[in-house]
Amino acid sequence: MHAQDECLEKLWIMCEKGEDDLDTFVRMMGSDYIEGMLSDLQAAGLASITQSGRRISLTKSGSERAKHIIRAHRIGERLLYDVFGGNFEDGACEFEHTHSTELVDGLCTLLGHPTKCPHGNPIPPGNCCNNFTTAVRHAVAPLKAIAIGEMAKVAYIDCRDNRCLFKLNGFQIRPGVEITLRQLAPCVVVECEGSSVALDDTIADSIRVWTSNGNGHVAETEHAPPKRKRSLLRRIGSRLAGR
Ligand SMILES: [Zn+2]
Ligand SMILES: [Zn+2]
Repeated sequence: MHAQDECLEKLWIMCEKGEDDLDTFVRMMGSDYIEGMLSDLQAAGLASITQSGRRISLTKSGSERAKHIIRAHRIGERLLYDVFGGNFEDGACEFEHTHSTELVDGLCTLLGHPTKCPHGNPIPPGNCCNNFTTAVRHAVAPLKAIAIGEMAKVAYIDCRDNRCLFKLNGFQIRPGVEITLRQLAPCVVVECEGSSVALDDTIADSIRVWTSNGNGHVAETEHAPPKRKRSLLRRIGSRLAGR
């Protein structure tokens, strides 16, 4: 099953690049290529190969399955990169084999419906992206999106620049710390650990906070009643903890 997922993933990537050459596919599979793999894919109705045997493409159902795998993989990369700040290659490969669309969509919502993975490759949108973009406030939002006077816990710093991280660390602003937004203009001012800190725009832009989603003062849609969302986030949390 995993081998088939790898094939579908490679075929999706080829399709993104506008390639359909069978030799390219075999080269991309490398040592994972197994004789008979292609006929299995064809028999399962996931890929079709031209009569000449030189071109390969995904069928409609193969494309649906590949889209889910790629989406799960790239959402997994975003999660590892943005939230855990870690190596996003290994974990994401495990994550792509999840069959739960609900789990992937839950994470997508949590991360603010990202459109690109850390490599810059497009993340195929899910139903969550189409339904929720304007209706629901994301669980994690940019600092500037919360209300003046609102207190929020820092989720992560979306910045790979050491100087920026160093500066924020100097202000005690790091994941898990509660900050209150005091002012947006002429510059962003937050209160952290009892002192006021003025931040320049680029630094303020890098701060992501947990919003008060589910605490009652954010509009919920009928697609996602608060109870169900909370239990989904709990499930995601426990699945991650189990890894
Ligand atoms: Zn990627
Ligand atoms: Zn989404």
